[in-house]
Amino acid sequence: METCDGKIGHFCGVIGIYSPSEINIPEKLFFLLFALQHRGQESCGIAYRKNDRIVAYKDLGMVSTVLGRYLSEDRPSRIGIGHVRYSTSGGNKLENAQPMVVSCNKGEIALAHNGNISNTEELKAMLFAEGSIFQSTSDTELILHYLSRLRWKDFTGALTETLLRFEGAYSLVMIWNQTLIGIRDPFGFRPLYYGTKDGVTVFASETCALDILQITDYRGVEPGEMIIVDDSGTRSIHFAKSEKIRQCVFELIYFARPDSHIFGHSVHLVRKHMGAALARHDRESGFSGADLVLPVPDSGNSAALGYAEEAGIPFDLGLTRNHYTGRSFIMPTPGQRELAVRMKLHPIRDILEGKRVILVDDSLVRGTTSRIIVELIREAGAREVHLRLSSPEIKWPCFFGIDIPTRQELISNQMDPQALARHIGADSVRFLEERQLCGCLPEAGDFCYACFNGDYPCKVKIQN
Ligand code: SF4
Repeated sequence: METCDGKIGHFCGVIGIYSPSEINIPEKLFFLLFALQHRGQESCGIAYRKNDRIVAYKDLGMVSTVLGRYLSEDRPSRIGIGHVRYSTSGGNKLENAQPMVVSCNKGEIALAHNGNISNTEELKAMLFAEGSIFQSTSDTELILHYLSRLRWKDFTGALTETLLRFEGAYSLVMIWNQTLIGIRDPFGFRPLYYGTKDGVTVFASETCALDILQITDYRGVEPGEMIIVDDSGTRSIHFAKSEKIRQCVFELIYFARPDSHIFGHSVHLVRKHMGAALARHDRESGFSGADLVLPVPDSGNSAALGYAEEAGIPFDLGLTRNHYTGRSFIMPTPGQRELAVRMKLHPIRDILEGKRVILVDDSLVRGTTSRIIVELIREAGAREVHLRLSSPEIKWPCFFGIDIPTRQELISNQMDPQALARHIGADSVRFLEERQLCGCLPEAGDFCYACFNGDYPCKVKIQN
């Protein structure tokens, strides 16, 4: 199975909001989640405090369909969280949709999670043996089970002990009674920002959501930091020492929206640097040139611009994208997948005819989609097609919230770039090298590159 994008799968996005006085929290959550729709399109949901209890609504589907009902009337509240999901762990079932809401000996808790816990097997076996009953197959539920078992009277103490037992990627937002909490794991795999405006505090996976509420006063939640917001104000607790920061470099390469700031960087500008690095490499290796640089829309847009500027070659849109097809629907047969790509991407013959083309995309997974795209461009009359990827070759799976196929399925484990070019019908294929990628990142040592080099920052169980 493969998405019609041929991309590695997204993961999730989270939102939290706290207001000192009552406002229409569900309506705000709708707009904030809408801004994060690109992070997960399989299910979504919200939870908010209504009088003295937490109410939640979630379903399979997109934000506008599932949560559109919250635009129709005023629902006064002071605190809420929301989630969009792509099922990296546990599958696409309603019981795995978030936020998860429980009532336990610590009070009422609602939790939304972006990431993947990497030591779930061991924790689940332990909790199961001790009598826990699971309602979902999601790793997020384990956090709630573990937390409720602890006998601490102090909630943040119990929460800290819980978090220290969990390994891997977690950016969390949580309602606990009248308190909103935002948490980022000690490696800082996934982004989490928080900001304030007019006394209202908002947590969001990306700054593009904060922009919706015109929040300009924000910062990233630090790796290993827990931020607690309630009537007494905002407190920061560093619950774990962050000895090794490993932010997911793929957030910058592909996942995040180009108008977001992630890990302190403008996503669009970093992608342009990656494209420029590809252009420099081509120049230094004597590549004979081209007439046109074009992106695979939208994932290659920023890098293609960077390539074109650095190489001094005109940028143009030789492919247009039909935005009404969705981003990640599944096509079961190769024929249907080809039709889906053709339905989604359309070449512009007047731009491409007779041209030598540099085609820029962010990454290559199985190569199936790239083969169809190259074919489309050739059918529109292009004389040469040179594919450039603004990431290194993907050779390893991810255990931290990204859906990457098995090692055998990854095309870069099957052939080198020359063979790959022949396989997809391109004149040449070139990837951004890891050292060039590092050259585009000011704090290059603070990133995870494990899907390129297999150097995982914590213990993982590789099965393939
Ligand atoms: S393995 Fe790759 S996708 Fe996963 S966190 Fe590391 S850089 Fe990101």
